[in-house]
Amino acid sequence: MSDQPARKITVDLSGQVAIVTGASQGLGQTMATELAANGAKVACVARNADKLAETVKAIEDAGGEAAAFSCDVTDRESVDKLVDDVVEKWGKLDILVNNAGITRDNLLPRMTDEEWDDVICTNLRGAFLFARAASRIMMRARSGRIINISSVSGLIGNQGQTNYSASKAGLIGLTRSLSRELAGRKVTVNAVAPGFIATEMTKVLEEKYGDAFRNEIKAKIPAKRMGTPEEVAAAVLFLASPAASYTTGAVLTVDGGMTG
Ligand code: NDP
Repeated sequence: MSDQPARKITVDLSGQVAIVTGASQGLGQTMATELAANGAKVACVARNADKLAETVKAIEDAGGEAAAFSCDVTDRESVDKLVDDVVEKWGKLDILVNNAGITRDNLLPRMTDEEWDDVICTNLRGAFLFARAASRIMMRARSGRIINISSVSGLIGNQGQTNYSASKAGLIGLTRSLSRELAGRKVTVNAVAPGFIATEMTKVLEEKYGDAFRNEIKAKIPAKRMGTPEEVAAAVLFLASPAASYTTGAVLTVDGGMTG
């Protein structure tokens, strides 16, 4: 038996600095507010400045600290500048959550070049650009957490989502390889793979497919319901926390048993 006293695990991120991409709505907004509620200073990233301001206000109203950084994650110069600006503002960078993502669903024979390129560029290149800029800082600091938001679509595929599945499977490959590159520097790199979570992204599907979508949820998900943004944020909080120091290269599914 361990001679260490039993611990109560809490997520104390006091004094830590986090970047969350795609923080203007949905999962990213919840991740940002929950990281801030647990003590982190959060740089909220997205293109829509008005919506970002709402996320920052919600965090500040709750007593947390945050700042909005309007940026397109596919633009290398903007990403590099943003990461530099965050370090200049708060002195360091401890946590990066690559959450920004889009869908452009279509069956492959009908998929346009633009639908393919947009999804790969936002979901995969965006994460690459942020991970590259952040890893340089984290390696020097010999500390850091990179969390990539993948999807069950990247694990088991999904009809009409070859572009999205490829981007999300690509994120898992990036996660596993980068975790090997950075483990010796005490920087962990993990992925979270949500299933169907109730956000704007799935609201679009519900509106488009109606009952067929709701029936599919019941048929495909052992838990018989969609997940909540808070349930995904809980996985992010764990991976961002000191308690996850020996977890790297992992893919944590949050999917109500879909891929179990
Ligand atoms: P939303 O569509 O609700 O939000 C997407 C976010 O990404 C927005 O904040 C958007 O902000 C931002 N974004 C999109 N493109 C860019 C860009 N080029 N530059 C900067 N920001 C961008 O999606 P969800 O919250 O539902 O999903 C969040 C992540 O979780 C995505 O990666 C998604 O693939 C993944 N996921 C979601 C699931 C779900 O069921 N909802 C399931 C599995 C994975 P703006 O438009 O202002 O730029």
